[in-house]
Amino acid sequence: NVQKDTCPVPQKLVKCANAEYDLVVIGGGSGGLAAAKEATALGAKVAVLDYVTPTPIGTKWGLGGTCVNVGCIPKKLMHQAALLGEAIHDAKTYGWELEPENIHHSWESLKDAVQGHIKSVNWVTRVELRDKKVEYINGQGKFVDPHTIHTQTKQGERTLTAKYFLIAVGGRPRYPDIPGAVEYGITSDDIFSLPKPPGKTLIVGAGYIGLECAGFLRGLGYEATVLIRSIPLRGFDQQMANLIVAEMEDKGVKFEHRCIPKSVEKADDGRLKVVWQNEHSEEFSDIFDTVLFAIGRRALTKELDIDKSGVKVAPDNEKIDAENEQTNVPHIFAVGDVLYKKPELTPVAIHAGRLLARRLFGGSTIHMDYDNVATTVFTPLEYGVVGLSEETAIERFGEDNIEVYHAYYKPTEFFIPQKSIVHCYLKVVAMREGDQKVLGMHFIGPQAGEVIQGFSAAMKCKLTIKCMMDTVGIHPTIAEELTRIK
Ligand code: NDP
Repeated sequence: NVQKDTCPVPQKLVKCANAEYDLVVIGGGSGGLAAAKEATALGAKVAVLDYVTPTPIGTKWGLGGTCVNVGCIPKKLMHQAALLGEAIHDAKTYGWELEPENIHHSWESLKDAVQGHIKSVNWVTRVELRDKKVEYINGQGKFVDPHTIHTQTKQGERTLTAKYFLIAVGGRPRYPDIPGAVEYGITSDDIFSLPKPPGKTLIVGAGYIGLECAGFLRGLGYEATVLIRSIPLRGFDQQMANLIVAEMEDKGVKFEHRCIPKSVEKADDGRLKVVWQNEHSEEFSDIFDTVLFAIGRRALTKELDIDKSGVKVAPDNEKIDAENEQTNVPHIFAVGDVLYKKPELTPVAIHAGRLLARRLFGGSTIHMDYDNVATTVFTPLEYGVVGLSEETAIERFGEDNIEVYHAYYKPTEFFIPQKSIVHCYLKVVAMREGDQKVLGMHFIGPQAGEVIQGFSAAMKCKLTIKCMMDTVGIHPTIAEELTRIK
């Protein structure tokens, strides 16, 4: 069913009577900006509204949305900082005459470097919009009716009408409804710009964000404890998730299983006392310097006065259920983290935004394929994945119909520093019969994201186990391990 991409062939635009713009995008993050730039390139008149409400501790950010300001980019840089700490220790075993015991890490320097990079990306993003003739409006958009948006900017009030609207407002971290959470806690919106070192940190939540933050904080030398309410990395292959947790435990991260927080308060010494409860209702407490909540995110639709647009949102998380990015109001679309039950990933938002712009203004008929999107959890040993978990494959096709190939492997470069190899593991889930179509690939190890990216292209081309076995590996790499499965 592969359709030929007919774009970019600008179509003559059919202007909506009296509408000022062809497209108004609400939200200047990855998805919104990608759609805006593509639409403008196809000849549409486009405006992007962007506005960020500061967090409870006052963190603000610039153009570019979650990924640039408080997500993928700063996270990857802090992950890299943590990996470099490990590399310094490894370097000595490779003959570098260092004294790791005298090497110290400066949180302030890292934070400044990361924030400096973010500011430069904010600036480049702004310039790019200007060059591409996308009108940027620094103001919070609110629906007045399904065809009109109102905004208050520093320059004054604006009322905008458009033929199409794109809601790309993303989401923000949630806080639990417990005493002291909002007053004393922080979230991933704050950690990358924290002015002082985080110190001993409690991380509440064991999804992507919780585990990634715990991983880099520990790698930078801070005590890190994670409260897991139920299972780690819900939605991911649980064998892999448990290996990630075991590896992090070996690296010194503490995990409190089946626990939920009860309260956060200021201790006598000015630090934070946290009380939590386990599944038997037993209470525990400890003192931390920082409490970071990573318990999931809610969509920012309420802030849009979305009820006035007629667009329906899910009651639990205020997300928009949109088939092919089209909401229940036909001229209003949505992309990115604001979508219900879609992967909250930057490249997904970008791809969906571009394809939508091509459908609206370029005559394309190609829709976003949300299946088999590769991703990576950037924990100390990374976990790269594309396709189904073993559990989902069994659920969908039955245990008797799938075959699981798996192996522990030994990265060559781990031997001299005598690093633990016990959690370097890969797993390929495939159909048992026929040409053994690959359903899912899972890889834990250094640079797992780089390993899985290429294989995700192969999955798009209907990769089979035979193809994998017929592939000649590159030696010595860790990715070659995936060509050695038998
Ligand atoms: P998730 O929903 O993935 O995880 C939330 C975690 O918090 C779960 O462990 C959940 O437990 C727990 N939790 C929820 N409510 C409570 C509560 N009241 N008390 C204690 N624990 C609670 O959210 P994240 O914030 O980690 O990530 C959001 C999204 O961001 C992800 O879906 C991901 O797509 C995206 N992301 C992607 C990254 C990447 O590509 N590398 C990196 C970071 C984020 P339980 O399982 O029991 O519900």
